[in-house]
Amino acid sequence: MVDYIGVERVQELVTHIGPARFMEALAAEIEHDYRRWGEFEKSPRHAVHSPVGVIELMPTSDGRLYSFKYVNGHPKNTAAGLLTVTAFGVLSDVETGYPLLLSEMTFTTALRTAAMSALAARRMARPNSRVMALIGNGAQSEFQAIAFNHMLGVRELRLYDTDSRATLKLERNLLKLGLHGLRIVRCSSTAEAVRGADIVTTVTADKRNAVILTPAMIEPGMHINAVGGDCPGKTELHPDILRRPDARVIVEFAPQCRIEGEIQQLEEGFPVTELSDVLSGAGVARASANEVTIFDSVGFALTDFSALRYLHRLNREQRVAAPAIDLVPELDDPKDLFGDLVRESSVTFQAPGAWSAPADIRRAADSRLGS
Ligand code: NAD
Repeated sequence: MVDYIGVERVQELVTHIGPARFMEALAAEIEHDYRRWGEFEKSPRHAVHSPVGVIELMPTSDGRLYSFKYVNGHPKNTAAGLLTVTAFGVLSDVETGYPLLLSEMTFTTALRTAAMSALAARRMARPNSRVMALIGNGAQSEFQAIAFNHMLGVRELRLYDTDSRATLKLERNLLKLGLHGLRIVRCSSTAEAVRGADIVTTVTADKRNAVILTPAMIEPGMHINAVGGDCPGKTELHPDILRRPDARVIVEFAPQCRIEGEIQQLEEGFPVTELSDVLSGAGVARASANEVTIFDSVGFALTDFSALRYLHRLNREQRVAAPAIDLVPELDDPKDLFGDLVRESSVTFQAPGAWSAPADIRRAADSRLGS
């Protein structure tokens, strides 16, 4: 049996720990993996585009575990009552190729994206950044707000969305949570929200080269967490913001960001630093209080790898009964796949003596996972 974490199980796991602590723990897992960047097989994700959206596959491996995520991005979906982003993922054992976990990743993507944003901002934003503008108040926005409140000490959130109902929804959800000392200010434009902010998070959905932030809005020392531009032809920043002489651009994985990130708008050799270098100490996150730092977030497979492994461990630590699904047949004779399929005639096909490899395989995989 393969461990299964569905929507309900993720709700239970996150509620048990609390979303803020969950994201903080996940950020630690992500940091641990980014510090061993060289151990991972990395490639830009595989994307299938349509005029209205994209469906992507995101694989990676450290030679012991392998993961992939299926994720879509369809900004038009919310008008039809559907999510813009949905996802699920698989964690596998490289030694046997057997899947260990099948998991929902729609909630998990929002959690890992916010954890990653806060992890990057902890290095890149000025110390004592307390005010954040949050532009785009849809599905991802609460997660970003909670992570920045908890992990960076953001105490004032300045909200703006072209859809005022989204802003009211975000405000309502945050007030219910009673986040630590958080003041919420609804703004009537992006320019108003951004004015005087230490950190600006853009997390809008629009399948075009949108200009959410213009050069005139940017103040010295700001940290920009650009989350919503994550596809060819789908960006949020005016390119001149990236070209400012005092700007420093940090990316998750340069080959993927050059295709999908804000830097797709710039010439190929435009200098950027990968976050892994910043986390290992080889790269600089911010050289002065006046620098404008930009985290060009697109969502990289390694963050999903960390999230799946973390969920797998939590699920096993906290479960009462193991949720699992019969995704892979467990055979007495691994060469007799057909005999397992055609149950009525399985007696005819069964080899003498039961073969206990599935249990062995699981034990070996458990030891690789450290569980
Ligand atoms: P969503 O559709 O639920 O919310 C997007 C919000 O942006 C909507 O409320 C919409 O009204 C608002 N918006 C659109 N244009 C705007 C504008 N010009 N000014 C202000 N607000 C505007 O989508 P979501 O799930 O919250 O995702 C947001 C974006 O983040 C998407 O583009 C998605 O692809 C991206 N995303 C990136 C990552 C990553 O790792 N970088 C992960 C998840 C999602």
